[in-house]
Amino acid sequence: MLLIPCPHCGPRNDSEFTPGGEAHIARPDPQRAGDSEWGEYLYFRQNIKGAQHERWFHAQGCRRWFNVTRDSITHEITAAYRMGELPPAAR
Ligand SMILES: [Zn+2]
Repeated sequence: MLLIPCPHCGPRNDSEFTPGGEAHIARPDPQRAGDSEWGEYLYFRQNIKGAQHERWFHAQGCRRWFNVTRDSITHEITAAYRMGELPPAAR
């Protein structure tokens, strides 16, 4: 069992959440982006071995999206922060 610390509700069982993939992906301007830039935005994600920033949805709780910094090897969560905020290390 993995406890995920929702910034709105506190720690909850991971069965209450839905993963949303990589966080902090900048959306390019669709009027200016070329096909390769737009395709990269839509389909390519990093798969970091170690600490990575992810989006999570608290589907069976507050029903809000938020970000988590999680180690992809150990599953240790070192930060949880609200949408629109930067990870604590980047502040
Ligand atoms: Zn919540």
